[in-house]
Amino acid sequence: MRILLTNDDGIHSPGLAALADALMAIGEVTVVAPDTERSAVGHSITISHPLRVKEVRMDGKIFGYAVNGTPADCIKIALGAIMDHHADMVVSGINQGLNTGTNIIYSGTVSGAMEGAILGLPALAVSTEVGEGTCICDNIDREAFSFQAAFTAQLAKTVMEKGLPERTFLNINIPSCPETGIRGIVFTKQGQSRFLDRFQKRMDPRQNIYYWLEGEDIEMEGGDELDYIAVKRGFISITPLWCDLTNYQYIERLKDWNLTVNI
Ligand code: MN
Repeated sequence: MRILLTNDDGIHSPGLAALADALMAIGEVTVVAPDTERSAVGHSITISHPLRVKEVRMDGKIFGYAVNGTPADCIKIALGAIMDHHADMVVSGINQGLNTGTNIIYSGTVSGAMEGAILGLPALAVSTEVGEGTCICDNIDREAFSFQAAFTAQLAKTVMEKGLPERTFLNINIPSCPETGIRGIVFTKQGQSRFLDRFQKRMDPRQNIYYWLEGEDIEMEGGDELDYIAVKRGFISITPLWCDLTNYQYIERLKDWNLTVNI
C-alpha cells in the first residue's frame, strides 16, 4: 500500500514524524508537506505563484518533500507530479490541536484529507489534543504522539480493507493522555461551534496599529454524538465527512419560494 502523508503544521512537525514512523509498518510512505506551518489555511490552493518542492533529509535518509504551499497544494502536487498518481491512500496529521466543530472548515489538516477524497482516494485526517500551555510548534517530541500514530496506522489498515464511499473521508480526533484516559471510540457528527472573534489591538515599533485574532471557540451543548463532546469525555471521535456543502433538505423549501426569471 502506498500512503501519501501530509499535514498543516509543517514538514518538521513531530506529529508528522510520529505518523510517518507508524505508517511505515503498514505501507510505503511518501511525505509531502508544507515547508512551514500552514494551520487554518482551510482548502486554499496556490495559483498565482510557482510551487517549489525540496527534498528533506533526516538521519541521512530522504524523509519527504517540503512544498511552499498549503496542504491541498501538497496533495495535488504529490499525486500530479511527485508520485505520478501512484498512491492508495491519503493521511493528514497528526495535527497538534483538535479539529472539531466549525474548526473543521478552517483546518488545513482536514483539507489535506479532503483533497485526497476529491481526487478519489480513501483519506484520513488526524488531530490530537495538546496539553494546556503546550506550545504548538516546539518542545514536543514525536514520542508524545506514539499512541495516536499507532492507532491511526491500525485504522488506515482497516480503511484499506473496508474502503470508503466516494468523496468521503474520516476526521479523527484523539484525546491527550492516551495511556490512561481513552475510554473507547465514538462515531460522531460535526458539532456546531462558533468562534467568538476577539482582536488584540497593538502598536508596532513604528507606531502603526495592528490586530491579532485571539478569540475563543464557543461550543454548543450536546452529547457524545458531537465530535468535541466525545473527545472531552475521553473517547476517540471518528466523523465521516464528505466534500459536499449542499443542504439537501432545504432544496424543497427553496422551491416553495416560487422564484421567477420574469423581473
Ligand atoms: Mn495545524
